[in-house]
Amino acid sequence: MKDYRVLLYYKYTTIEDPVAFAEEHLAFCKELGLLGRILVGTEGINGTVSGTVEQTNAYMEHMNNTPQFADIMWKIDEVEGHTFKKMHVRPRREIVHLGLHEEDVNPHEITGDYLSPQQFLEQMQDDNTVVLDVRNNYEYDLGHFRGAIKPEVETFRDTPQWIRDNKNLFKGKRVLTYCTGGIRCEKFSGWLKREGIGESVGQLHGGIATYGKDPEVQGQMWDGQMYVFDERRSVEINKVDKEVVGRDFFTGEPTERYTNCANPKCHKLMLCKEEHEAFYMRSCSDECRRATPNYFVEKHEWTSEQIEAQIEKIAAKHAV
Ligand SMILES: [Zn+2]
Repeated sequence: MKDYRVLLYYKYTTIEDPVAFAEEHLAFCKELGLLGRILVGTEGINGTVSGTVEQTNAYMEHMNNTPQFADIMWKIDEVEGHTFKKMHVRPRREIVHLGLHEEDVNPHEITGDYLSPQQFLEQMQDDNTVVLDVRNNYEYDLGHFRGAIKPEVETFRDTPQWIRDNKNLFKGKRVLTYCTGGIRCEKFSGWLKREGIGESVGQLHGGIATYGKDPEVQGQMWDGQMYVFDERRSVEINKVDKEVVGRDFFTGEPTERYTNCANPKCHKLMLCKEEHEAFYMRSCSDECRRATPNYFVEKHEWTSEQIEAQIEKIAAKHAV
């Protein structure tokens, strides 16, 4: 057993004064020695924190003793050390960013059927089922359920329109949604139901994080890794027949390694093999290679002649 843990959790419940709650909660988390990121809104709480076994136990006990948080479904990962550098508790209008705005859903009023990992695995293999990934593109690119649909949109807020435009994909089908910890599905599966998308709607309860830990399903039918929002960046899910689906941004070769563009104004998240970083100057485009500042250029103290020479080499390689 490792000495540290990461807790992932959420709860849709009314928090009357999120600002005051956040302030008090931050003090409590700091006192415990936890690190992480927690969002608080009138609609509930959404958090990921890391700490020692003792610290995380104390936190869960405290929350479980608070009636409105008593039934939180914790996702617990064992890790070597903290996976965050700071502790933030922030009041927000939305505890998960879906951008549904006036189409927002209260999951206590409408939501998809909750499915256990085993039910999800079973139903996913039914021919009359469509599996819908409700996360961001960069999360899908690193790993997803085999055959899952990812709406072809730049940002998540365009997803509702894409689904309306592609309603036929779901006609007469059972639609299954999944996300990292389940929080997005609570709302989005409700939105699908309200819109009358598909014949019926189910959601993976507890998300991929719970699915990956289920001793019976063993993460089956998941390809690649699961993207996570802490320093680990990714975790393994499939323990049976794992396949790498991530592709290097520059060459298309299989990889599961993420890095950010060295131009801080761009900061694009790219899958990139370690051995390709230097050649491409860890930059997504020529524009970013020439940008000032560029962290790669700064680190290696390149001159503008060196930058231009490298840009030519890259062009030559891709001209072949
Ligand atoms: Zn860039």
